[in-house]
Amino acid sequence: MHAHEAGALHAPGYSAAPEWLPWPDDVNALEPGLWPRTVTKDDEGVLTVAGVPVTAIQQEFGTPAYVIDEDDFRARARDFRTAYDAAFADVGGGADVYYAGKAFLCTAVARWVREEGLHLDVCSGGELATALRAGMPGERIGFHGNNKSAAELEAAVAAGVGRIIVDSHTEIDRVSALARDRGVEVGVMVRVTAGVEAHTHEFIATAHEDQKFGFSLSGGEAFAACERIVARPGLRLLGLHSHIGSQIFETSGFELSARRILGLHARVRDELGVAMPEVDLGGGYGIAYTTQHSPLTPTELAEQMAEIVRRECRALELDPPRVSIEPGRAIAGPSTFTLYEVGTVKQVHVDRAATRLYVSVDGGMSDNIRTALYGADYSCTMAGRRSDAHPVVSRVVGRHCESGDVVVRDEYLPADVRPGDLIAVPGTGAYCRAMASQYNHTPRPPVVAVRDGAARVIVRRETIEDLLALDVADA
Ligand SMILES: *Cc1c(COP(=O)(O)O)cnc(C)c1O
Repeated sequence: MHAHEAGALHAPGYSAAPEWLPWPDDVNALEPGLWPRTVTKDDEGVLTVAGVPVTAIQQEFGTPAYVIDEDDFRARARDFRTAYDAAFADVGGGADVYYAGKAFLCTAVARWVREEGLHLDVCSGGELATALRAGMPGERIGFHGNNKSAAELEAAVAAGVGRIIVDSHTEIDRVSALARDRGVEVGVMVRVTAGVEAHTHEFIATAHEDQKFGFSLSGGEAFAACERIVARPGLRLLGLHSHIGSQIFETSGFELSARRILGLHARVRDELGVAMPEVDLGGGYGIAYTTQHSPLTPTELAEQMAEIVRRECRALELDPPRVSIEPGRAIAGPSTFTLYEVGTVKQVHVDRAATRLYVSVDGGMSDNIRTALYGADYSCTMAGRRSDAHPVVSRVVGRHCESGDVVVRDEYLPADVRPGDLIAVPGTGAYCRAMASQYNHTPRPPVVAVRDGAARVIVRRETIEDLLALDVADA
């Protein structure tokens, strides 16, 4: 056990912990900045959200479960809207915030987004149907995707979506034909690849040129798309759209992409005589998964983005178009934690001196693929009791038949963590339930919303019966 002592862990070469991971003075304490706003721990060390202890959530809903702090989600949505409204009041007369529904969407969340006065981005017929079921007005919906089906485009036009972000010449023609058939005018934006690679993980960067999205700026492709739209009946060219990546912590990438697409905006005005009323600078604002990340606040972001647009428009002698942005992760991500129960604990020798505690929980890569897919880092805490044991280097792993099935690669947990304990992982509101799978025939966990001391299911737990219902037994 000597390698588990704090001193030994901190001797050079004796710890399996990465350098960025801070030694916890109190392993029971919650790391500030990682948890939903109403989350605290009570005197017994039980994690509570909006006044509801996770032990009660476990009893009523079981584990694993995604637990979403409704007030936190709503507040983040509202903060973006009010910050961008204020910062852009004198730049194009305000800004529109589109929540990127792909981060996490269900009817209740789409309703919160509507009630908080945001717009909503969808990228499939399923997301569109969810938005409409929540009563989101068509004109507040944007429709994305590089290969929308004919049926999806038809549904979007029928719903009167405010904008379709077109991604290919083929799609421009398809939308034009649909608009003509229905005798309507459809607002479109052109997805532009601005040649900017955001400072982020390779697999989630989307605006360097060698990728599937958008019309490239450099080859004149994006201008040609604008020309085509102007020449086609039934289409109204609303503006250009750029999304440069995800989990971005500084605005320099946005500055470069804004400069480039506003340059094209001016060219369209000068050469095609079309004054496009809008521009969309996309999403991608980063959040804190661990102490490695310190995101900008919505106010800081909005003020920096407004200054960027103001400056670039002045340089191009452009009347600033109305700006829209599309945060997904920054609204949904921090609002949610995943609650797991520990099943087994195993001490593993990493080398001669260092050990790591492998803590197996009742979920894993089926409810959070991001660690395996992107090498994402997460944090966690023991959520059901406090412990006086010393902290040990731990890894929280799932129950799946795959050695890459890791949820939290590096964290300190108390050395006495044992079967039956609860583990909570913060920052799982975006791209976790949305990307969940049924790998190993594992039913997907529910989403439990908590507000004002009351918890309720907004997405119910899948059952074995749900799984078997899709399986045609007598085929
Ligand atoms: C994914 C995506 C977003 C949201 O990205 P986040 O990193 O969740 O903010 C916004 N716009 C577009 C076009 C996207 O593809």
